[in-house]
Amino acid sequence: MTHRILILGGTTEARQLAGKLAARADFTIMLSLAGRTGSPVAQGVPIRSGGFGGADGLAGYLKETGTDVLIDATHPYAARISANAAAAARMSGVPILALRRPGWEPVDGDRWLEADSVPEAIQALGDVPRRVFLALGRQEVAAFEAAPQHHYLIRSVDPVEPGLAVPDAEYLLARGPFREPDERALLQEHRIDLVVSKNSGGDATYGKIAAARALGIEVVMVRRPDLPEVPSAETVDALAAMVVHVFEPDAERGV
Ligand code: NAP
Repeated sequence: MTHRILILGGTTEARQLAGKLAARADFTIMLSLAGRTGSPVAQGVPIRSGGFGGADGLAGYLKETGTDVLIDATHPYAARISANAAAAARMSGVPILALRRPGWEPVDGDRWLEADSVPEAIQALGDVPRRVFLALGRQEVAAFEAAPQHHYLIRSVDPVEPGLAVPDAEYLLARGPFREPDERALLQEHRIDLVVSKNSGGDATYGKIAAARALGIEVVMVRRPDLPEVPSAETVDALAAMVVHVFEPDAERGV
């Protein structure tokens, strides 16, 4: 008999977790993606793509597929799917576990201005034209049309189409991880004087934060949204161990 595990993904850790759990013959893994990225990286496990139709839809999917455990391994800013996952788990009685990557903390030399939302981050840019690096999702950058006085360097995985209705924006297509020396070169080459970032946590996108610190550049850091309280772990290995524990409560360790 195999145990069915649904992983809500869209992050590097979700893919790593899926690969790790799939190595066990007694686990059947399904990785779920929102389906917004045109060319997602190969995931190495079966995937399904697209929304479920809210918490009810997800609860229905869990029942129909006989899923035994639901794992929320989505991005920390994907607050709606995380709320839906917690609600669907309650409705269906399927246990839920979450992978919650810790956020970055400011260290000596960082010049962070924290904002509660993207609109607040836009306010924080001020009236005087700045040269701004937007390291945000494609869906969030459109809001910066509200501050057309700035120069924007916009990096995304998929093209920002249509482009922003501002006079001065440059676009870069790239997928992380991004290393600090490359990020430093990028900020210098484009004479960036302010970075807008989410507090994603992890190493893959920390390069720009370290580079901004080294260059004395300000960072407007958009704070994380509130997420539902569910049993969680901070790393792939710790979460994998929690999954095993659900099925083998007496097992000490090991996937
Ligand atoms: P969101 O606002 O929380 O989700 C919006 C809706 O998209 C959800 O209500 C759900 O639709 C659908 N959805 C989101 N994630 C899904 C998943 N893994 N599988 C199936 N449906 C999903 O999230 P978002 O900001 O749109 O983010 C979408 C996805 O991109 C998430 O999976 C997130 O992890 C990923 N993401 C990755 C990064 C990154 O840097 N790697 C950054 C941001 C987001 P229904 O209500 O119809 O089910």
